[in-house]
Amino acid sequence: MKFKPANNIQDLQYFGEFGGVNPSISDSSTYTFLSAKTMFDTFEGNADGCYLYSRHSSPSNLYLGEALAAMEGTETANVSASGMGAITPVLMQLCGAGEHIVSSRTIYGGTYAFLKNFMPRFNVSTSFVDITKLDVVEAAITENTKVLYCETVSNPLLEVADIKGLSEIAKRHNLTLVVDNTFSPLSISPVKLGADVVIHSLTKFINGSSDTVGGVVCGSQEFIDALRNVNDGASMLLGPTMDSLRASSVLKNLRTLHIRMMQHSHNATYLAEKFEADGLKTVYPGLASHPSHELFKSMMNEKYGFGGMLTIDVGSLDKANELMELMQERNLGYLAVSLGFYKTLFSAPGTSTSSEIPEEEQAEMGLTDGLIRFSIGLDADIERTYEMMRACMEELGILNKLAEVHV
Ligand code: PLP
Repeated sequence: MKFKPANNIQDLQYFGEFGGVNPSISDSSTYTFLSAKTMFDTFEGNADGCYLYSRHSSPSNLYLGEALAAMEGTETANVSASGMGAITPVLMQLCGAGEHIVSSRTIYGGTYAFLKNFMPRFNVSTSFVDITKLDVVEAAITENTKVLYCETVSNPLLEVADIKGLSEIAKRHNLTLVVDNTFSPLSISPVKLGADVVIHSLTKFINGSSDTVGGVVCGSQEFIDALRNVNDGASMLLGPTMDSLRASSVLKNLRTLHIRMMQHSHNATYLAEKFEADGLKTVYPGLASHPSHELFKSMMNEKYGFGGMLTIDVGSLDKANELMELMQERNLGYLAVSLGFYKTLFSAPGTSTSSEIPEEEQAEMGLTDGLIRFSIGLDADIERTYEMMRACMEELGILNKLAEVHV
């Protein structure tokens, strides 16, 4: 039977303490016990349904984790205060001194910086590879490799990882395949394709209202228990815990994710097709010209489309900046990092979200100066948005210039 991630969320049933239609919020950092023995058993991890201290777990965080685990098809999940608060404990839990990670080279700048600059302090090294070339990925594995890391759809280049192919490699070499699925919630379900651990920055599409940062790790009960272990669990000991009030508000936003993703995808597809037809260099997994279009199609839960992220290249950073400023002035979106908001957001990744990546490496991976990353919003009238964006580009000579090149 086909995996239906949105149904899995919808099928959960929660009630509040007094029969409320929303679960009650656990507004406590610590919990009482009727007997000292139960407290001891809870510390030992042997008292199901008892709470100890909210850095470890809280009812509100467990509700949100349960919904996200249902969405990703994992046994359970652990929510965190940010996406980086999910990524960093996972990698530190899985790797110790002397061990090695093979990672995609096109990943979020913060994750790249963590692997490149921070993990070597603990003598954990990383090889960054072109994740679309499975032979290159496999060749980078050494006897010390523990983790294969990638983003399903990469930030900002929108490269698509072949999760099935990567999972076969991971299994052959006894590695844990960790996938950051932030750009493609509902559209792609990595665990169903063989991933072991799935991470999201909830900050983006899942929460969808750009009012908080948040993260989640979805995985097996054994792995999540290990992360939360009071003696040696990286999430428990590093302490990136989400607040209960916030967990409850993210859970409420999660309920509309399926509707939002369909609209993000619809709008992004419309704009990507128009931009490409206008002669702009456009990257969107939903375009037949995307090198991994067929791969994405083979992995996707069709209903939710190819997602809300696209890039165009307008030739230079100056032009990119001029265009973004003008689009903001005309209220077509905001010049801001992040993604998944109801408004369109745009930024030039080379000087913002990927600025941690050295310039020569940016050039090598195809991250050009004139690249603009768009997170397409929920605009009700995308035809009008397109006409207004096109007018901005014509005014700045971007489209005219392209027409000249093409003549
Ligand atoms: N993963 C991806 C793909 C991202 O784009 C980001 C942030 O931009 C993160 C992880 C980090 O998430 P957060 O900012 O919530 O810590």
